[in-house]
Amino acid sequence: MVKKSTLPKVFLRRPKNKGKSATLKIPRLLAVANQKGGVGKTTTAINLATALCAVGKSVLLIDLDPQGNASTGLGVRRSAIRKSSYDLLFENANPAEAGVATKVPGLYVLPSSIHLSGAEIELVTAERREFRLRETLRQPLPYDYVIIDCPPSLNLLTLNAFVAVDSVIVPLQCEFYALEGLSHLTKTIERVKRTYNPNLSIHGVLLTMYDRRNNLSAMVADDVRKYFGETVYKTVIPRNVRLSEAPSFGLPAIIYDMKSPGAHAYIQLAGEILRREKKFMAANTQQVA
Ligand code: ATP
Ligand code: MG
Repeated sequence: MVKKSTLPKVFLRRPKNKGKSATLKIPRLLAVANQKGGVGKTTTAINLATALCAVGKSVLLIDLDPQGNASTGLGVRRSAIRKSSYDLLFENANPAEAGVATKVPGLYVLPSSIHLSGAEIELVTAERREFRLRETLRQPLPYDYVIIDCPPSLNLLTLNAFVAVDSVIVPLQCEFYALEGLSHLTKTIERVKRTYNPNLSIHGVLLTMYDRRNNLSAMVADDVRKYFGETVYKTVIPRNVRLSEAPSFGLPAIIYDMKSPGAHAYIQLAGEILRREKKFMAANTQQVA
């Protein structure tokens, strides 16, 4: 555990013993995905999950990437892993029990394991291979949110995440090739929506690693906003060394250095996401009525 004094004060305001949520409900499910590597998916998943915990939510972060960066970034030692996201896919592991506590109050992680690198091949012949995650996650659980950190690929693991979740957050690095491959991603999301998961939506596009000293960042950001309009979050994540240092300490940047511009941006993002959530919920209720 992080020493209490090193936890930002907001966490100390959480109700006592509020770890997993006391009431069971079907959680809101979000995937963080982009088949492009190194665009900030894991950094976003970890820090968004932490920021949601700071406002009292209980969150399960599922590391669905065989690289296991979300697990190590949250200080999970490989040797300490009992249940993993592989067990969720293949062994009917119960996500309520399999989530392990992290140093962040309210944040649980379902780590990745080496077995996950073979999962793609195992899934090909598995029964109901696209629905594996959906069937285990769409049940009453002690979490308000489940966030899935996807691998940098549109493989069957990512497909499982898209079939399971309500909405996808797409981080885009502010660099020249940012939009490359994006139509493939949006078409895949559309296809999953048509075929398996009619309520699936893009929650938002997140501009990451924005460097205000570099004109290219501003140009890319303009292009992305022209292309995606309102879908792009107003919050932009700056390039910030604290965000890249934090994982080596097994801590989210929000805890490692809460005052850093990177941590600040992710807190702002969580606020924007929660406001957008209200709109999504209202739209869904209207659809059901
Ligand atoms: P992969 O596709 O390999 O899973 P990813 O999309 O999950 O990568 P991250 O691991 O979050 O991307 O980030 C890639 C690298 O960039 C990491 O070393 C991370 O610490 C660093 N990084 C991410 N966001 C920022 C940022 N805003 N400023 C500086 N460094 C960042
Ligand atoms: Mg990653």
